[in-house]
Amino acid sequence: MALTHYNLFNVLRESLRGHTGWAPAWRDPDPKPSYDVVIVGGGGHGLAAAYYLAKRYGITNVAVVEKGWIGSGNVGRNTTIIRSNYLLPGNIPFYEQSQQLWANLEQDLNYNAMVSQRGILNLCHTDAQRDAYARRGNAMRLHGVDAELLDRDGVRAMYPWFNFDNARFPIIGGLLHRKGGTVRHDAVAWGYARGADKLGVDIIQNCEVTGFKIENGRVTGVETSRGFIGANKVGLACAGNSSRVAAMAGLTLPIESHVLQAFVTEGIKPFIDGVVTYGAGHFYISQSDKGGLVFGGDIDGYNSYAQRGNLPVVEDVVEGGMSLMPRIGRVRLLRSWGGIMDMSMDGSPIIDKTPVDKLYLNAGWCYGGFKATPAAGLCFAHLIARDEPHEVATAYRLDRFRTGHMIDEKGMGNQPNLH
Ligand SMILES: Cc1cc2nc3c(=O)[nH]c(=O)nc-3n(C[C@H](O)[C@H](O)[C@H](O)COP(=O)(O)OP(=O)(O)OC[C@H]3O[C@@H](n4cnc5c(N)ncnc54)[C@H](O)[C@@H]3O)c2cc1C
Repeated sequence: MALTHYNLFNVLRESLRGHTGWAPAWRDPDPKPSYDVVIVGGGGHGLAAAYYLAKRYGITNVAVVEKGWIGSGNVGRNTTIIRSNYLLPGNIPFYEQSQQLWANLEQDLNYNAMVSQRGILNLCHTDAQRDAYARRGNAMRLHGVDAELLDRDGVRAMYPWFNFDNARFPIIGGLLHRKGGTVRHDAVAWGYARGADKLGVDIIQNCEVTGFKIENGRVTGVETSRGFIGANKVGLACAGNSSRVAAMAGLTLPIESHVLQAFVTEGIKPFIDGVVTYGAGHFYISQSDKGGLVFGGDIDGYNSYAQRGNLPVVEDVVEGGMSLMPRIGRVRLLRSWGGIMDMSMDGSPIIDKTPVDKLYLNAGWCYGGFKATPAAGLCFAHLIARDEPHEVATAYRLDRFRTGHMIDEKGMGNQPNLH
């Protein structure tokens, strides 16, 4: 019988048999006429929601409907950073829940997602920024999240080769969050897909949702490129395409779609062992286990559904990198790519019911939805199963944009490019 469980014995045995004995990681079923729950979008959030629906809430008659292939969206395009260094009460418990799920994810899924809590350091360059980080660190510690405020010597002890002395914005310290780090992004999609499939969830790839059937204000199924699929409940987890898909159900979301680019260099010897963010511009960097420097910066700044970006942003991002660490100037860039970000107006997400009965929404993840994947999946599953928000996601209401209860982490105002 084909093997489904990964353990030392099975891996050793298969290594001697040319790895011919493994079962496919998930099945490739045709859609059934109807399901208890249909999740639209087979990214990290949709797959995690399906997994937790089956595992925690016992709802296994579930389909995840994906227009492309598993891993083709942002879950396979991000810069892999996870963290819970948030300031506001609406956010901290949610992201900390995610961190806790990350810590046990590989055992839970029986899948190597390369979870690496290697630490994340946010650099500061002005007194005002240091004050803001001190405040953020205090808020984190009050919620039981690890945070250390470093002075200049503290940063120098970790990264002596940063540009401390000749930079236009000299480094004066940083906020260190040791439990932050990186996770192999597409392995998260594959791990959740495999876990959900094992529990009976149908993962249906190459199946685009093209419309919704809504009767008397209640959703009863989805029209797809592979025919109609009935559903008692439908969850939307379409990330960058959220507005487009929600519009098919007659909804206008407080979300704009923007391109965000990421970059990877040729592999070099290990030289950055954690994640670092530059505080005087928008630049964040880590080094992959293969040795490539993985980095990114700002959104491109115009509305788009394209998965590729423009050259001025490439220039802006690498300028940020060069001002922080001039020694990367001779490293060759191997690849860059883009993903479509679902930018909400306050920079925080939405996990809520919609005005259409039994239609649920998970969207507005901006730059930060990868780190949220486990908690977003769990909270979305909870909402769908129980018809009420999970206790760590009560602030992520859709109507906050109407009632004025914004969750604006940076205090910058309601515009996507400010978050
Ligand atoms: C360059 C880049 C860097 C990033 N870096 C980070 C980071 O370091 N840390 C972090 O926390 N976050 C980061 N993010 C954000 C993060 O990747 C996203 O917020 C998160 O992945 C979104 O959730 P998802 O995985 O479910 O999205 P996706 O993987 O995009 O899943 C949505 C899916 O819906 C599908 N879909 C859309 N329309 C339809 C339809 N009509 N029918 C069926 N399926 C449909 C899409 O094909 C897609 O697969 C980054 C994003 C990008 C692009």
